[in-house]
Amino acid sequence: MTSDTGAALPSDLLLFERGWLSSNGIMFREGERACLVDTGYSSHAQQTLELVNAALGDQFTLTQVLNTHLHSDHCGGNALLVEHHPHATIHVPELYAPAVSNWDAHALSHQPTGQVCPSFKLDGVLQAGQVFQFGHRSWQIIHAPGHDDWAVMLFCADDGILISGDALWGNGFGVVFPAIYSDSGFERVGQTLDVIDALKPSLVIPGHGKAFTHVGAAMDKARSRLSYFLGSPTAHATHAAKVLIKFKLLEWQEIELPVFQGWCEANVYLNQLHQKHFHPQTYSTWLDALIEGMVDAKVCRIAGEQLINQN
Ligand SMILES: [Zn+2]
Repeated sequence: MTSDTGAALPSDLLLFERGWLSSNGIMFREGERACLVDTGYSSHAQQTLELVNAALGDQFTLTQVLNTHLHSDHCGGNALLVEHHPHATIHVPELYAPAVSNWDAHALSHQPTGQVCPSFKLDGVLQAGQVFQFGHRSWQIIHAPGHDDWAVMLFCADDGILISGDALWGNGFGVVFPAIYSDSGFERVGQTLDVIDALKPSLVIPGHGKAFTHVGAAMDKARSRLSYFLGSPTAHATHAAKVLIKFKLLEWQEIELPVFQGWCEANVYLNQLHQKHFHPQTYSTWLDALIEGMVDAKVCRIAGEQLINQN
């Protein structure tokens, strides 16, 4: 959590900037009610609850929790929040509804990523093309496939504010998950960037990083990153694998190498990336080289039998 959260927001909006393991949280406050968009990773759920409680004070009641998408770093605090705020209802993108109702950890990505997310119940859906009204603000719900094909963004046209989730960051966008398990995805990242272009937001509140107004520069950066990945899907595969490993290291901070190797063995997405892009190199040779690169980049280090997170 940092105090400088970037570009100034209207006084009814509050940004909890959380880093990479936990997504940002965005709170709407008006009258006596408050709503939170995205709730961070499960190991930070207590911190999320404390941030929310501090922002609610005596004046506001948390009435809604929304998720831009259900990657574990965006909805890991849902369960604890509604346990402590029984008036709050949970609303997820419509395409996620069946997977949440049956709690399908595979379809939700939590199982194939080897990540953790406590289950929660669904109260409503965010349907693309509809409007989510909160106080005086109307938020258009916009389908944002690419990083996650079921994701949505929220756009307040009156003030040009876009809550972009992982579809657009100040310095790019999130890993293109459909490219891990299928042969598509990049083109939908481009289509979603086109949609953002057409909205012409003046302020973007991303899923990770600071709020920003340099939207043109961020779009240029995202487009050039996309064209790099289009030209080299293998570079994206390497990037995706490193992100999956780094994310887990952020959760663990420190892990015994045999436990880490066991996690890698069982990891569905890492196995798929290896099969698709790096076969016939063996899985362990590929992983060893990845870790070596991450150690060289000082993203992690090895001490004795421990793999330790850095930075
Ligand atoms: Zn995501």
